[in-house]
Amino acid sequence: MKNQYQTSELRSKIMKSVKSKNTGAEIYVRKIACSLGYNHYRLNVKTLPGSPDVVFKKLRKVIFVNGCFWHGHDCNKGRLPKSNITFWKNKVVNNIKRDREAYKNIKKMGWKYLVIWQCELKKESHSIRKIKKFLEK
Ligand SMILES: [Zn+2]
Repeated sequence: MKNQYQTSELRSKIMKSVKSKNTGAEIYVRKIACSLGYNHYRLNVKTLPGSPDVVFKKLRKVIFVNGCFWHGHDCNKGRLPKSNITFWKNKVVNNIKRDREAYKNIKKMGWKYLVIWQCELKKESHSIRKIKKFLEK
């Protein structure tokens, strides 16, 4: 068994990186929206299902900026650590369930949603196109 210290150190490392990355990703999505002329939005609206990251109230549209690891994206960044795999798997599976529930409820309310993955933001023109298409439709 790998020692406990390594595991908990890894855990706190991931938590930290996820937190800061999410903030960066959110800011980035906001910048894109602004550059497209969508200046009226709210952030982290807790009263909507899943507390969407960016909310366009007038348009009834929301954007979720998802960290690949926590939300179980099928990409390099979404890969689980080799140690303590059951722990991580349970966490991620629960998050995926919660996400699905939130998306369903958002739709039920007559709102539209878009999911932007953290890894997608690296491809700038792709993200801009995706956000533009979503906000314009
Ligand atoms: Zn990803």
